[in-house]
Amino acid sequence: MAKNISILGSTGSIGTQTLDIVSQNPDDLNVVAMSCGSNLDLFESQIRKYEPTLVSVGTEELAKDLKTRLSDITIDIHYGMEGLIAVATAEQADTVVTAVVGMVGVQPTIAAINAGKDIALANKETLVTAGHIIMPLAKEKGVSILPVDSEHSAIFQSLNGERHNKISKILLTASGGPFRGRTLDDLENVTLEDALKHPNWSMGAKITIDSATMINKGLEVMEAKWLFGVNLNQVEVVVHPQSILHSAVEFMDGAVIGQMGTPDMRLPILYALFYPNRKTLYSEPLDLFKVGTLTFERPDMETFYGLALAYDAMDAGGNVPTVFNAANERAVAKFLKNKIKFLEIPEIVSEAMINVDFIQNPTIEQVLETEQMTYDYIESRW
Ligand code: NDP
Ligand code: MG
Repeated sequence: MAKNISILGSTGSIGTQTLDIVSQNPDDLNVVAMSCGSNLDLFESQIRKYEPTLVSVGTEELAKDLKTRLSDITIDIHYGMEGLIAVATAEQADTVVTAVVGMVGVQPTIAAINAGKDIALANKETLVTAGHIIMPLAKEKGVSILPVDSEHSAIFQSLNGERHNKISKILLTASGGPFRGRTLDDLENVTLEDALKHPNWSMGAKITIDSATMINKGLEVMEAKWLFGVNLNQVEVVVHPQSILHSAVEFMDGAVIGQMGTPDMRLPILYALFYPNRKTLYSEPLDLFKVGTLTFERPDMETFYGLALAYDAMDAGGNVPTVFNAANERAVAKFLKNKIKFLEIPEIVSEAMINVDFIQNPTIEQVLETEQMTYDYIESRW
């Protein structure tokens, strides 16, 4: 029987690659609901091709526009946060692919878990800010959280069901981004265009900038902590510029098991959707003879101090990871509009972490309040 999926963010980089996997497995996957932000042209063509019964867009106005475009078919159209939650909890859905970017994914993910859906999780910001609520809730509801992020999928595949108390450490690989090897001085005047040129992966704009600052790796350290139940000091970032080893686990006996592959997000998406089975992926296989050499180096935490800030945020606990994440989201949005310089991104994150009020063990309401307090603080200063 086909698995029914809902996709939050079908028009994005992960969303479109998820639909590609659906196209490659038409008898095994069926899209019942999906959402987009504002890209109606692409969304309309996706709806006509994959025929979900429930969809959602960013705003009421966009929903009206979509209704007019789709007047020849019967479909349930929603919008805004209510719409994201409707997609996340669509009755027939077995699994929800969380492919929206940012904290907007927190409430829909929680709603999906409460509705008993398994989660194929790409939206790492959700775990960074609400991992302390989501992981226990998933356990209570008996739902699986399957990682889509390539490193976490690699760790998950390497663990192969072994318990986390057998892990000595997680080796979380990082490409180092477009500015690997540069100094703080070099980064003073880099442009948006420079930062958007990722050497190995083609991704959405926000995560591409996060890779350039290495804040993406900081978010991923926190994501690994929540997904695999390890301590922060057990997650070691290893810069590996070729992006072939997607991460590895060192076990207590010294065995290091990793997963290699070409840099293609469709593999972790496919793995999350069909776990515990493997399926054929129609793509270029890894050619180790072409790759030739794999190299590894320590991250430069002084130049890319956003990564060091992530460890500080996790150490501080409470709502500080939320402040870290929300400040980064807002700073990246400003950088993408050319309103601030590249190095102001970690500076804003650092200042927000110092200045936004601390809350121990925040509830979901307090996580969302913290997001707003962080935005207010940033708007008052930048
Ligand atoms: P994109 O920017 O490419 O896509 C984001 C999706 O979310 C789009 O469908 C967009 O709609 C929608 N969206 C954006 N803002 C809102 C909003 N406020 N309300 C509703 N929908 C919204 O992002 P990516 O696919 O690159 O990333 C998605 C998530 O996956 C992120 O958390 C990222 O960190 C993670 N991830 C991504 C990887 C990648 O290779 N891209 C790798 C590993 C993790 P629209 O475009 O129509 O406005
Ligand atoms: Mg990743």
